[in-house]
Amino acid sequence: APQVAAGPAPTPLEVLGRVFGYDAFRGDQAEIIQTLVDGGDALVLMPTGGGKSLCYQIPALVRPGVGVVVSPLIALMQDQVDALSALGVRAGFLNSTQDAVARRRVEAAFVAGELDLLYLAPERLRVPSTMDLLDRGQIALFAIDEAHCVSQWGHDFRPDYLQLSVLHERWPDVPRIALTATATATTHAEIAQRLQLTDARHFVASFDRPNIQYRIAAKNNPRSQLLDLLRSEHPGDAGIVYCLSRASVEKTAQYLVDQGIPALPYHAGLDSRVRAANQARFLREDSLVMVATIAFGMGIDKPDVRFVAHLDLPKSVEGYYQETGRAGRDGLPSTAWLAYGLQDVVQQRRMIDTSDGDAAHRRRLSAHLDAMLALCETVECRRVQILAYFGQSSEPCGNCDTCLAPPETWDGTVPAQKVLSAVTRLDREHGQRFGAGHLVDILLGKLTPRVSQHGHEALSVFGIGTDLSDAEWRGVVRQLLAQGLLAVDADGYGTLLLTEASAGVLRGSRTVLLRREAPRAPGRAARTPR
Ligand code: ADP
Ligand code: ZN
Repeated sequence: APQVAAGPAPTPLEVLGRVFGYDAFRGDQAEIIQTLVDGGDALVLMPTGGGKSLCYQIPALVRPGVGVVVSPLIALMQDQVDALSALGVRAGFLNSTQDAVARRRVEAAFVAGELDLLYLAPERLRVPSTMDLLDRGQIALFAIDEAHCVSQWGHDFRPDYLQLSVLHERWPDVPRIALTATATATTHAEIAQRLQLTDARHFVASFDRPNIQYRIAAKNNPRSQLLDLLRSEHPGDAGIVYCLSRASVEKTAQYLVDQGIPALPYHAGLDSRVRAANQARFLREDSLVMVATIAFGMGIDKPDVRFVAHLDLPKSVEGYYQETGRAGRDGLPSTAWLAYGLQDVVQQRRMIDTSDGDAAHRRRLSAHLDAMLALCETVECRRVQILAYFGQSSEPCGNCDTCLAPPETWDGTVPAQKVLSAVTRLDREHGQRFGAGHLVDILLGKLTPRVSQHGHEALSVFGIGTDLSDAEWRGVVRQLLAQGLLAVDADGYGTLLLTEASAGVLRGSRTVLLRREAPRAPGRAARTPR
């Protein structure tokens, strides 16, 4: 049993075998654990499934006292404690979901030294009595899980995490370990700085997930594209489908059920009991599809998720990497599939423009989106680009769509000039709001009611684009937006605007390389996105 027995402390390797039943450490685990056991600090960046938990659980068992683990994953604390108890590890948690009786029991156990691990929700740090409680017990170490939550630059900021530096100020001699599966160089530096991990050793594992096949497709009819994917490549597999809105989660889950594919919805608008029940079924069953907003998934440990599909564009590469990282934790081949279209770009730009927060905040969101768009539009290996985003270099992988079927590029300068000219013409009409759909109608020479109403058939650009299809024009507009050659106005209507860079294209001093869209699967009618 891990209870401190008389005699010398067990070695980490002994604990690994006796408590957890494994015979060897993975990657940097042994060194990380030894750093903590020796009283040092560590900052650990390791992808999901890399084995972060043992990095603090084992030192907590080896060192005298209780390992205090700060984690935002309140919903998982009970499961974590149960799993540890099953191994004979004495663990407890303190969070807002428990009643006073349960809380007092855990507190008493902590003070009496009858715990090996104490999980703490970050909001407990705001409560002065928590600090007093920690004073009354012996602390083996502090583990700060999901440490990227301290980063205001990141996508998952939790204000309570800023309190964490207090731990170091009040207990300077207790070793600390901060862990995350997300880290660009910026987040990495911010974690170290905000948590005052000045003397910490940094352990950065490779972020490559070689068994995940990355694919990004042009969105035309996302639900039926998804259905194709599930039927042709993942029949009977468990997977996660991410949608941006609750409404689209509900609709997509219902659609899959109607098509005979077992699926459940998950989003923050559902009753918490329904959410918990759906999550439990997903974890338990072999072939359930969870259709969810990004509220779902953090800390979910289901090894056999065979695919993660995104029906809407993630807001950042970090988010995309984390979400897709839930696939294939067992190391077996898995698919990360994303459908992405013009409407995604327009919508996300609009959301940024109307978001709360100051200009600096909006610039950050914008930079995140730009990196995500660059990943979508790249003609190079997706994996190389993802890893480069995390500051890691690699070779083309042979297991992503661009490696498997290298996309062609084409000289899109003339079509780009047509789009930009049309934007210029429409811009002349003060007070009028015209989005991408109307612009494409004009290029195609379609006499829609809206075109007639505004007399746009008289514009010189009317009908100059019959050489491309509706979908192709949308692809051109999308890529121009992604390349920063077009912008979306903050007016909330998706009005297209020229950018500083557009001028060079219009003048003919700048060529525009575009990615050729994969031909649509045969036999399906072309449908334009909403
Ligand atoms: P992370 O928190 O980094 O996503 P976990 O700590 O949940 O990863 O570990 C992922 C899985 O790998 C778990 O099932 C864990 O038990 C297993 N694991 C971790 N370290 C080892 C090891 N040294 N040997 C065998 N399995 C391990
Ligand atoms: Zn590749």
